[in-house]
Amino acid sequence: MQGVMGVYSKKHAATKSLYVMYGVQHRGQESSGVSAASDNSLRTWKGKGLVSGVFNEQYRSFIHPNDYVIVGCANGENTDNGIPPLECKTNERYAFSLVMDGYIPKDRGINEDAISGSLLRFLSQGNDFEAALAETMKKHRNSYYCLVVAVWDKKEKKSFMVVARDERGVRPLYLAKNAESVYVVSESPPIDVLENMGETFNERRDVIPGTILIADEDGLREIKVLEPKRAHCAFEWVYFGRPDSVIEGKTVHSVRKRLGHALVETHDLKKEYEGEDIVVIPVPDSGRSVSTGVAEGLGIRADEGVIKNAYMGRTYLIDDPEFRKIASDLKHNIIKDTVDGKKVIITDDSIVRGTVSESVAQNLIKEGAKEVEFLVSYAPIYYPCFADPPDKPLAAQPFKGKSLDEIGDLVAGGLPSINKCRYNSEENVLNAVGLPKDDICTYCVSGRNPFEN
Ligand code: 5GP
Ligand code: MG
Repeated sequence: MQGVMGVYSKKHAATKSLYVMYGVQHRGQESSGVSAASDNSLRTWKGKGLVSGVFNEQYRSFIHPNDYVIVGCANGENTDNGIPPLECKTNERYAFSLVMDGYIPKDRGINEDAISGSLLRFLSQGNDFEAALAETMKKHRNSYYCLVVAVWDKKEKKSFMVVARDERGVRPLYLAKNAESVYVVSESPPIDVLENMGETFNERRDVIPGTILIADEDGLREIKVLEPKRAHCAFEWVYFGRPDSVIEGKTVHSVRKRLGHALVETHDLKKEYEGEDIVVIPVPDSGRSVSTGVAEGLGIRADEGVIKNAYMGRTYLIDDPEFRKIASDLKHNIIKDTVDGKKVIITDDSIVRGTVSESVAQNLIKEGAKEVEFLVSYAPIYYPCFADPPDKPLAAQPFKGKSLDEIGDLVAGGLPSINKCRYNSEENVLNAVGLPKDDICTYCVSGRNPFEN
């Protein structure tokens, strides 16, 4: 997954882009970078690590006041092709640099190369940039992508920004504009931040799937290339997105709270916990809004009992189970005062291999929890996402076809420190998101592949 952004602005583009880059950091922590374009140049600044490290003192001498198109990426994946953004300067007229949050099948991974390759081919056939991008979208209809491209037109001596979102809109992409600037960004919070800092916008919305946007000296143009066939990834609301994001009009925090309420209702938890000394706590961060929802549903207050060391980075991507367990132990510590002597109800977004849930539960018990129940805001995951390594063992997979409660019991049976485990149904997830059901991808739960119809 990536956080992508782009700014077209004749005033302070560099400063604005840096503000926005901080706001996409949660979507990728492996590397960060931007490409900056002016009338006369296209240059790239990037490195391994977080925005705060890569955009250091030396970055000040890289950036130029004449730069007015800046595209950037906080990247969370292995970068066999090199750290994004990747520049292409082979075409005579155009030099361009693109960032992408998406997936191109065949060559697994981020694969800007497949897109750049198509763009270069269509450009070499004499198409202008807009036409080449439209052809590229038509060619890659089995892919999903949010593309943001800085294009330097060497002939006309000017630069512009081009954006494309695939017709399914699997990954989010947000647009904001005013008289001076056009912004695109994976999620909405950086736009809120700019507003808080005094910038005003006359338009703020999601980029429509299947469209191209062009920001240049004439303003913003939108071109419909493909009819939307929406299949927004449900996991954006469940896990990937920031709680303060509004994705397709649905606030992530509110969706997660609804998932919490749904758990209480579906499993009749109010009745189940009646008279017991329980405490509801989240596995931070994605479990937090869920625990608020669960507690609301139970008529109590959620507490904090698992504290995440935010400096540990992502542990999910580690392959070796032993090392992943160590990483989870290093990342999560327990507040004894919260859990000692209590039945602990813990919330998280998902159980994939069960490493995090078991390691957290083990430590809860060490700190005095009488027993641990695990509430999962998402539904049981049976199918590895098309963009994920297919060989990942999935805790719920062997129990496909059983009832929700049976699956919960069977998964808990494999996790010694967890007494009981409860999931949401796919239906609950779709209801909590609150968009038309056909517009949401739940492939990992249902096996319904939006690329096959
Ligand atoms: P497990 O330890 O069960 O394999 O992983 C589940 C945990 O990983 C959850 O706490 C979840 O928040 C976290 N997580 C981090 N990244 C991802 C991701 O890309 N997909 C899923 N399903 N969970 C993730
Ligand atoms: Mg988590």
